[in-house]
Amino acid sequence: MLKPWLPIPVDSDFSIHNLPFGIFSDERPARAGLAVGNWVLDLAAAYALNMFPHHPEAGSAFRKPVLNELIGLGRGFSEYVRKIIRDALCDRDSVLRQFSDHLLVPQDKVQMHMPIKVGNYTDFYSSEEHAFSVGQLFRPENPLFPNWKHLPVAYHGRASSVVVSGTPVTRPCGQIGQKSGIPAFKPTHALDYELELAFVIGKDSTLGQPVPVAEAEDYIFGLLLFNDWSARDIQRWEYQPLGPFTSKNFASGVSPWVVTWEALQRFRVPAPDQQPAPLPYLADGAHQNFDLSLSVSIRPGSGEEFVVGQTNARNIYWTAAQQIAHHTVTGCNLQTGDLLATGTISGSDISQKGCLLEATRNGTEPLKMGGGEERRFLEDHDEVIMRGFGQRGRIRVGFGELRGKVLPALH
Ligand code: CA
Repeated sequence: MLKPWLPIPVDSDFSIHNLPFGIFSDERPARAGLAVGNWVLDLAAAYALNMFPHHPEAGSAFRKPVLNELIGLGRGFSEYVRKIIRDALCDRDSVLRQFSDHLLVPQDKVQMHMPIKVGNYTDFYSSEEHAFSVGQLFRPENPLFPNWKHLPVAYHGRASSVVVSGTPVTRPCGQIGQKSGIPAFKPTHALDYELELAFVIGKDSTLGQPVPVAEAEDYIFGLLLFNDWSARDIQRWEYQPLGPFTSKNFASGVSPWVVTWEALQRFRVPAPDQQPAPLPYLADGAHQNFDLSLSVSIRPGSGEEFVVGQTNARNIYWTAAQQIAHHTVTGCNLQTGDLLATGTISGSDISQKGCLLEATRNGTEPLKMGGGEERRFLEDHDEVIMRGFGQRGRIRVGFGELRGKVLPALH
């Protein structure tokens, strides 16, 4: 068991086994840091104290206001950095301990920033429980489309509006279908969250060359919590035949700390058996997911937070490797910093739903939140809070929080 000299709360997401990367600022400009316990470790300052002597290129990467350059140095580099810091946190004679006042900044004293510049964001639809129960609402006789068990369904999302935790979301206006057939233009009355994970792509693939499913995991740097904000009434009117557009392009939230691929390996579990067997290009021998507990809460403008959904990532039908293999099978290339999100992650029980569309059966059965509050969809000033972590014995690795508050519409 590793014994750090720095006090780290036992229930901290940011244990010594995690050490995720993020971008923070204090009185100095935004730069790279690692989260540990209730602290941010200033990587640029650690570099200046010669803590990474074998990687002179690290200095430039650590001073950038996004992690793309650092990620581009490869998983070998990020593992080197995490090992140096992990060892220093367990060595009472380390430079890190000697200069801890200079190198460690309390997390409540910093501002977190968007950790990566996202070139492309793709949103999948990979949870069978979600796809089935949403399908059941609208097509009870045929909930899953015929393609669903043969390919990981997705749409290309909007990268420019991916925002970091804490960024408020203004209730969007748009076209909403009416019984008359003439749409109304007004604020959405069906604003929703979607509880997802996003995979951060860690290296470029080559245009024209599919990534084989067996190599796909090599392209993942780490994971984030992801909230795919959705306006259901706008979505219902606009989505046919090409899928969601303005109902989802106004904002998508991410948690500020990128949890590395390596830190999550101890939480791997077999993914669900797939029947029918997928085509050979999607047949991943390892076929693994992550055992990660996920939750979503709503905190009304003046009230207590209430957990509205608790689920787990272990049962996602299409794995990250299959998503990447399918995404690139045409020769479409991945780029460092791209995000591939899983789609809403739900379990079968009503308490395990990752969005209100499912939890309230499209707004028909309000969700009781305690304190007399209930929700069909989100109201102004509601704050949505997502959390996620893996736990093995006393070892915990988590994402921290992804928060976003709903502001009233501009119109
Ligand atoms: Ca989604």
